[in-house]
Amino acid sequence: MSKPLAPCSKCKGEMSTNILDTFHGEVGGVKLSFHEMPCVICEQGHKRFVHVGFAAELMDLMMSSETYGSVPSAVKKGLFKKRYHCPGCDMELPGSPTGHQRQEVTAEIRKAQPFKVLAEVPVFRCGGCGKESILSVEETAKSAFKATDQAYRSIDIHPS
Ligand SMILES: [Zn+2]
Ligand SMILES: [Zn+2]
Repeated sequence: MSKPLAPCSKCKGEMSTNILDTFHGEVGGVKLSFHEMPCVICEQGHKRFVHVGFAAELMDLMMSSETYGSVPSAVKKGLFKKRYHCPGCDMELPGSPTGHQRQEVTAEIRKAQPFKVLAEVPVFRCGGCGKESILSVEETAKSAFKATDQAYRSIDIHPS
C-alpha cells in the first residue's frame, strides 16, 4: 500500500489521484497537448503534480533532443542576421513555417502512469528539393520548455 496523500495545500482537503482532461501549451509555434496526465486533486479542484519531481522530469522530456531529433535540422548561416538553409540542397529556407510535424511522445515519468503528449513542431519546406526541416533542436526545445510551463499554468497545477 502507498502512504496516504498529503492534504491540499490550499484548502487542507483530502487529495486523490486522478487523470486530467487534455490540456495545451503553445509557444513559438510549438504546440503541446498533454493527454491523460495523472495528477492529484482535492474536492475543490486544486491540482498538484503526482510528486515533487514530476513537473521538472516532464519538462526535461519535452526539451530532450531525442524528442525532436527525427526531423532534420536546418543549417544555420550568418553571424548577425541568422539565415537558415536546407540541409539537403543548401537553398535558403522560407522565412516562416510552411507546416507542422506531429510527434507522439510517451511520457514515462518515474512513479507515475505513462501518458501521451502530442507535439506539433513548425517545419520549413525547402522550395528547392521539398525536404522539411526544423530550424534547430535547441530552438525547438526552448519553445517546448516555455510551452510546457504555459500548459501547467493553463490548468493551475503546482508541485505542492
Ligand atoms: Zn484544495
Ligand atoms: Zn532543399
